[in-house]
Amino acid sequence: MSVFRKVRNTINLLKSVDMDQLAKINKQIDLSEAMKSLGQLDERQLKGLMKMLKTKQKKGQSDLPPITGDFYNLDLKLTEEQRKLQMEVRNFMEDEVRPLVNDHWNRAKFPHEIIEKFKKLNITGVPYEGYGCPNLPFLMEGIIAQEIARVDVSISTFFGVHSGLAMGSIYLCGSEEQKQEWLPKMQKLDAIGAFGLTEPNVGSGVAGGLETTCKFDGENWILNGQKKWIGNATFADVIIIWARDVDSNQVKGFLVRKGNPGYKAEKMEDKMALRIVQNAIITLTDCVIPESDRLQKADSFKDTAKVLRMTRAGVAWQAVGCARGAYESALKYTRKREQFGRPIASYQLIQNHLVEMVSNLTAMQTLVFRLSEMQDADLLTDEHASLAKVFCSMRTRDVVSRAREVMGGNGILLEHDVARFVADAEAIYSYEGTKEINSLIVGRAITGYSAFVS
Ligand SMILES: Cc1cc2nc3c(=O)[nH]c(=O)nc-3n(C[C@H](O)[C@H](O)[C@H](O)COP(=O)(O)OP(=O)(O)OC[C@H]3O[C@@H](n4cnc5c(N)ncnc54)[C@H](O)[C@@H]3O)c2cc1C
Repeated sequence: MSVFRKVRNTINLLKSVDMDQLAKINKQIDLSEAMKSLGQLDERQLKGLMKMLKTKQKKGQSDLPPITGDFYNLDLKLTEEQRKLQMEVRNFMEDEVRPLVNDHWNRAKFPHEIIEKFKKLNITGVPYEGYGCPNLPFLMEGIIAQEIARVDVSISTFFGVHSGLAMGSIYLCGSEEQKQEWLPKMQKLDAIGAFGLTEPNVGSGVAGGLETTCKFDGENWILNGQKKWIGNATFADVIIIWARDVDSNQVKGFLVRKGNPGYKAEKMEDKMALRIVQNAIITLTDCVIPESDRLQKADSFKDTAKVLRMTRAGVAWQAVGCARGAYESALKYTRKREQFGRPIASYQLIQNHLVEMVSNLTAMQTLVFRLSEMQDADLLTDEHASLAKVFCSMRTRDVVSRAREVMGGNGILLEHDVARFVADAEAIYSYEGTKEINSLIVGRAITGYSAFVS
């Protein structure tokens, strides 16, 4: 056998190692370096290595196929560098976040200590250029969102609100001075952002109906009104507030600083999903904001919509991560759990559920992969992002519900993670545009008729 084939076989053997094991190995050794070294081994050494790996597999009784939610090997489409970053995020989520999420979810607390640890990953503001941001393709933003949500959707929502909605508003709608002031410290997670658009009386209809008002008094802007559901708002350093100008009737955006007089954020209690996310009701009472803190390039709702278009793709990736986490947990469980003397994974009806799950998951993954490619090629439209959001949030609901089903009673226990994914999928389904609203966006694009209002 040629050395080339031996290396390929060894790589295949490594690939067949369980994803969790592979993540651990990758943390301990630089896999790309290891591959180079493998190429330098002679045939005898390679034979020895392969024998060792095979024996290890037998010892671990892992002659079953690996547990991976990447059935079509989309990971292979990433560069070595991109794959490395993906694995760094995966390791971080497995080691630092997974052990604490269920407890925090249960108590509806945000684990503030992880912010310091997150800083080291340098994954904030991924696609932006300048201001200390990594300036990687949107594809990587999606991959990262998937990796975070694969372990916990709340943490990925915290991240999406900060890095996508809040930083994105400043990046797309801020003046150069505003970007210079906020983006570098937000990139380092030294300042945390929130995004306040939805209101108690206005959700889907924000484009034309914001009740929160702003009025210019010749020197400052005076904000009045309420916002609902605003993630991170109880502790954020800067909250982007969207308000309707009473004089021009146009929507404007403001950088409201923590502690600004007239700004009050109260935590929303008793949520049945995304319990780690600190959502708030914000009340603005004659809140005075200087003109220098008005987003200088946000002149109408069209500018707000640009931010939503950019981040909606990320929400579709989050849905994929949620489905992947649930599928992998369920697959693992069904291979271990025995009933009637055999693992339940060996029963046809259970396999049918698992295949439905992996089909949906694979369809979603290939769709969001293409979505990000379009975003990177500057071809993304509102309807592209909306279609992905609708499809993925619907399919995710199906995947998590089957994951819960194959786990029987244990499917409703937090201990096995799937119960958390089931609940969190409900929030993904509704935020950043409900199924109906995103369908209306796609419907308008394909028929040429707007059906938003009769
Ligand atoms: C966990 C969570 C976190 C969130 N975080 C934030 C945040 O950080 N910042 C922020 O600004 N917002 C946030 N939101 C708000 C979110 O974007 C809204 O919930 C969403 O836009 C829907 O608005 P709504 O809940 O008021 O529902 P509504 O608009 O009241 O809709 C109720 C139902 O009516 C349907 N409907 C409405 N209009 C039409 C129509 N024309 N035709 C057919 N059906 C229609 C909807 O699809 C839905 O099924 C968050 C929400 C959740 C649940």
